[in-house]
Amino acid sequence: MKEFKAESKRLMELMINSIYTNKEIFLREIISNASDAIDKLHYQSLTDKKLKINKDDFAIIIKIDKTNRTLTISDNGIGMSKEELETNLGTIAKSGSFDFKEQNKKKENIDIIGQFGVGFYSAFMVASKVEVISKAYGSKESYSWVSSGIEGYVVKKNNKENYGTDIILTIKDKEEYNRYLEDYELKSLIKKYSDYITYPIKMEIVNDKETKLETINSLVPLWRRNKKDISEEEYNTFYSDKFFDYEQPLSHIHTKAEGKLEYNSLLYIPSHASYDYYSKEYEKGLQLYSNGVLIMEKCADLIPDYFSFVKGVVDSPDLSLNISREMLQQNRVLKTIANNIEKHIKNALMSMQDERREDYLKFWEAFGLQIKAGIYNSYGMNTEKLQDLLMFFSSKEDKLVTLKEYIDNNKEEKAIYYACGSSTDQIKTLPQVESMISKDKDILLCSNYLDEFVLKVMVKYEEKGFKNVCSDNIDLDTEEEKEELKTLNDTSKDLLSLMKDEIDVQEVKFTSRLKNHPVCLSTVGEISVEMEKVMNAMPTNESIDAKKILEINFNHPIVQKLQNLYKKDKEELKKYSKILYAQARLIEGLPIDNPTEITNIICDILVK
Ligand code: ADP
Repeated sequence: MKEFKAESKRLMELMINSIYTNKEIFLREIISNASDAIDKLHYQSLTDKKLKINKDDFAIIIKIDKTNRTLTISDNGIGMSKEELETNLGTIAKSGSFDFKEQNKKKENIDIIGQFGVGFYSAFMVASKVEVISKAYGSKESYSWVSSGIEGYVVKKNNKENYGTDIILTIKDKEEYNRYLEDYELKSLIKKYSDYITYPIKMEIVNDKETKLETINSLVPLWRRNKKDISEEEYNTFYSDKFFDYEQPLSHIHTKAEGKLEYNSLLYIPSHASYDYYSKEYEKGLQLYSNGVLIMEKCADLIPDYFSFVKGVVDSPDLSLNISREMLQQNRVLKTIANNIEKHIKNALMSMQDERREDYLKFWEAFGLQIKAGIYNSYGMNTEKLQDLLMFFSSKEDKLVTLKEYIDNNKEEKAIYYACGSSTDQIKTLPQVESMISKDKDILLCSNYLDEFVLKVMVKYEEKGFKNVCSDNIDLDTEEEKEELKTLNDTSKDLLSLMKDEIDVQEVKFTSRLKNHPVCLSTVGEISVEMEKVMNAMPTNESIDAKKILEINFNHPIVQKLQNLYKKDKEELKKYSKILYAQARLIEGLPIDNPTEITNIICDILVK
């Protein structure tokens, strides 16, 4: 018996005693080795014309023997000589991407084992004994390599007839491993991990009458086929099978990159958000394949958060199978692919917006919030990338428009006007908005809690600033009107100051911006009324107050009344101030701090 090299021993120990639950990946590893071995022979046959090989004969065959508890995986690939058996299986995989020594320093290796496998040795997670019988192509002799664990291995001469390799696993004698001797279990593992191996994986199915071979895998994955040969239906079926969504996707994005960096990607934009999409449970990520072999179910590094709704697969021969999660994150190939993917998605969305507006609106309904969050959460850093995807409800168009469309429709305006509230209907009834609309102004009606925060971090779009019609002073008056207003405010200074002292505002003033309503609330500073509402709804102890201004319509008969009261009955004027302020708060959807007092005052006035 020969001993394993020290580091192989350590790895085997980990495998044998592995508490990792995902032991099933051993099959993927062995099948992938078999596929590599066939690849090598296939390649030789292409360059060496003397080799008489029919590529249709290439196959990986799986046999189960329940009586002896063995699972055999055979291939007719290049095989291994005696020396190769010793060096390849006696020492740890030399594949460049996996530096075991480095990983070995850490105590926790379980994650690497489970997520990425470490090749051949993973067989020891499920097998008490592993036997490899191999005949190198072109050689007359064959050898077997047998090991039952860390003690070592034995290599002997064998009499295998055909070239290639048989891996015979004696499955551990414990109930939890019985599943690896059930054909339906193995079939589903092959489907899950090795469906797109390019050689047929055949399983020997034995029933009462006969023994037959059944091909389990799909061979050529959809994403590797030519776009022009794929029907819309095939794309859709693939989507629903793979991502368990029975509603058709809005779009698919199929890309084949060749040259310096090779990869195929097939991405989908779903038509609705899954039930858990906006919850913490949702995990973003694309399926990652290396040459048809699944390496990761959800590779999060491939898509940015704001496109986390995208489903799909990426397959690249430039990624190694035995790559660890940490290494994957730093991998340059992966980063480049991720950058390209982001561009593909953006372009697809932009052309959907242009050419298929109805679909785009569906998209917006489902995932618009995610795009807005993408801008807000990055403090505006992603604005450039995402701003053209945004949609807002235009009061003039009476539908959702892009910012670009708003600008084009309102070329003469210096700013982009918006107003916030709980619904578009409610916003339209706000006094400031109503009066702006009556002046034929176009206003973006923002009814989502994130809207104003997004506009604030964006600051402007194409050199035009965003102006909240409820908080910013919007100058629409003629010179005479301005003059008239100024005089009124100046001459009523004492009146206004008396009113201000009665209520919790920064200022009380007369305004020309209202049409029919007597009062409105506006704000100064960064925080608007809508933001105050949103921020105070958050579960923190801090309470936030917008700096409010009570504005009184200078054309309304109430002005006369207030002036009279100032002269004759200041106590009554104080009551009026409170009522007008309460009115303004109600219109804005803010609560009244002192409802009993207010209702009593109203009643006093009613009985007069
Ligand atoms: P890796 O596949 O990453 O190199 P493994 O531990 O899975 O690491 O395998 C070690 C080596 O053993 C392979 O590189 C290959 O040379 C050889 N090998 C494994 N399985 C087979 C097989 N079925 N046919 C031929 N060679 C094989």
